[in-house]
Amino acid sequence: MLDRYEREIDYLRLSVTGSCDCRCPYCVPRGETVRCSSLLSADELAELARAAVSCGVRKIRLTGGEPLLREDIVELCRGMALIPGLEELCLTTNGIHLGRLAPELKRAGVSRLNVSLDTLLPERFQRLTGHDCLGEVLHGIEAAQRQGFDRIKLNVVLMAGINEDEIPNLIAFGGKRALDVRFIELMPIGPCAAFAQSHYLPAEAVLEACPELRPAGRDGVAQLYALPGGAGRVGLIRPISHKFCAQCSRIRIDSGGTLRPCLHSTDGVPLRGLRGRELEDAIRAGIQSKPRGHALSAGAVCQTQTMYQIGG
Ligand code: SAM
Repeated sequence: MLDRYEREIDYLRLSVTGSCDCRCPYCVPRGETVRCSSLLSADELAELARAAVSCGVRKIRLTGGEPLLREDIVELCRGMALIPGLEELCLTTNGIHLGRLAPELKRAGVSRLNVSLDTLLPERFQRLTGHDCLGEVLHGIEAAQRQGFDRIKLNVVLMAGINEDEIPNLIAFGGKRALDVRFIELMPIGPCAAFAQSHYLPAEAVLEACPELRPAGRDGVAQLYALPGGAGRVGLIRPISHKFCAQCSRIRIDSGGTLRPCLHSTDGVPLRGLRGRELEDAIRAGIQSKPRGHALSAGAVCQTQTMYQIGG
């Protein structure tokens, strides 16, 4: 459906849990335990997804927190993939449990995967995430490719002084494996804003580190580039330096069941407990309240929660 700024809203990011096993400093405030007390049930999530599809959503991305921590994630995906009118069911994961779950996710009807991976160096990975398990993530990516997941996207958050030296290696890693490597500008979100402000790196740094990249169109909010003769593509997602709100087609539902019209909206529309027509009307109202744009480029932090709470 169209929002009041004539944007077609057809993409829902649905957070299936607020729990996560990683401690990435841009997402989890230091010392915080990431546990979610009141998960939405599989039935509640399915009802939200069906209602969103009735309101014009064609693509759903399951996210969190870490979606693969849900014990019923495979059944959840199986049910959602069958919703009439839903064209794509995608999932974003840290990849730690992907090796074990990739075959079942594929059979359940998940069409696309994004894997978050900010570094290819084991020690750095441990420092950033709190886990010594880069090997598991790499194994998970391989397992997913063996199952036929095509064009997996690697999400790399760009961090000045932390992983900027790895830009060429990450691009080469993706190129060798036909993965799309997407560099995302660090956003100052909620209580992690100070980290983001001190490590922000504009995505332009990718083009400087790899001047051979050539423009190759767009994919949603990502500007695409390719290496001459290379198999993988490189995407730049620039919420700060090149605001893309005019092209935004998404809404979010956080792990508590509140619809967030924009990632940076502090208020939202509570959907938990609503059913049928009432639920659809509330989703439509949420879409109509989507703001024209966020104010991050003006230096403001517009969010009180962090990404794992909202659903990245
Ligand atoms: N656990 C899953 C994962 O690791 O992909 C899904 C949730 S995670 C919050 C989704 C994405 O949000 C990840 O790619 C993560 O890197 C990104 N993210 C989290 N906080 C961010 C921030 N402050 N700025 C930019 N990206 C962020």
